[in-house]
Amino acid sequence: MVRVRYAPSPTGLLHIGNARTAIFNYLFARHHGGKFIIRIEDTDVERNVEGGEKSQLDNLSWLGIDWDESPDKGGPYGPYRQLERLDLYKKYADMLLEKGLAYKEYRDDSENYGIRFKVPKKKTYEFDDLVRGKLTFQSEEVEDWIIVKDNGIPTYNFAVVIDDHFMKITHVLRGEEHITNTPKQIMVYEAFGWDVPLFGHMTLIVNEEKKKLSKRDKNIVQFISQYKDLGYLPEALLNFITLLGWSPPINEEILSKEELIKLFDSNRLTKAPSMFDKDKLTFINHTYIKKMSEEEFLEFVRPFLENAGIKKEEDWLLKFSSMLQDRCSYGAQIVDLYNEFFKKEFKLTEEALDFLKQDEFTLLIETLKKNLSKSDFSLEKISEAIKKSGQEAEKKGKNLYMPVRIATTGLLHGPELAKMIYLLGKETVIKRIDKILEILEGKKI
Ligand code: GLU
Repeated sequence: MVRVRYAPSPTGLLHIGNARTAIFNYLFARHHGGKFIIRIEDTDVERNVEGGEKSQLDNLSWLGIDWDESPDKGGPYGPYRQLERLDLYKKYADMLLEKGLAYKEYRDDSENYGIRFKVPKKKTYEFDDLVRGKLTFQSEEVEDWIIVKDNGIPTYNFAVVIDDHFMKITHVLRGEEHITNTPKQIMVYEAFGWDVPLFGHMTLIVNEEKKKLSKRDKNIVQFISQYKDLGYLPEALLNFITLLGWSPPINEEILSKEELIKLFDSNRLTKAPSMFDKDKLTFINHTYIKKMSEEEFLEFVRPFLENAGIKKEEDWLLKFSSMLQDRCSYGAQIVDLYNEFFKKEFKLTEEALDFLKQDEFTLLIETLKKNLSKSDFSLEKISEAIKKSGQEAEKKGKNLYMPVRIATTGLLHGPELAKMIYLLGKETVIKRIDKILEILEGKKI
């Protein structure tokens, strides 16, 4: 049975790169009907941050990932936090001391000692990486290395082997930066005579300049919680991240979690660095947003509107959000769109003014004012008033809708006209029309 794990160090927020490791392991496990385990690698005590573990797990859950064994869920091979397994590491380090495969190293005049692994001489280490194929290392490239520090805490390369062995891990899928650690880990497996799992090292994620994504790179939002706060959808993010270093065997990139589980196989992990393409993420998120029902979309953007202090009636909100749904690539954008269409001062652009001047529109705008003033300002009546004004003033097509749009919104283009007029409200619209009439009558430019 396939057993894989995601083994984060609780040193900070869940990063895109770590999320990818977790997602690939998760999809691999589910694809093969295996188990997905979460183990917390907290032996680098100074780097642990408070809340780091919780942030990892909460953000994975948000992405739609679930797991079978973990510190919070327990399981048959726990505990699942390394600092709770120190006795086990000690026992196996002592065993290596006894066998003469490791040695003690005292520091200064202290009684405590570290334990160093004795690297075999003139040995070749070889493994068949699921992504990169055959990789070979010589033991001469590796110095004797510390497996347990003098404070009794094991180093990563030692603890990881003990844990992967006792947790019966079959496949280790992790970031490329661990390739050079792999020979050290194989040495430990061999020292105990244990089976070595299969390794697969995933490609680097690079930025648009082809440089390794660094946490300091300000151009790219890199933490899952930040995407959540901006109004990215978990399904879209999961979809996008899966395409960083893996490609589907079909000609379709918008894939649900269920489809990804079905399609995910390790043969299609890519060797070449994978570029973090922001536009692609925007496109995928936009695609998922467009698929939501109008009601779902309103619920999705409501917290952003509330946070921005935008308070309106339900009916207004639903018409407003549904009108802008197609224009939103992420949730927080709804506030920008609100500001653009409903908060900005009413002002004609040069182009809009030119359009109004190219023909005689005064009669049309006057008629529009008359008809809108009379109407009860329902969406239906607004549409009727526009049409009727066109008939009365003998304008149609572009010569009807463009001046009406300009007179009510100040813009040449924008969302659905009748809805915009409805959402702006009668008072505002009439005031705007009056202003336009003044301009057309040459009183004010
Ligand atoms: N704790 C290690 C990391 O966060 C895990 C590496 C591994 O999967 O072996 O990089």
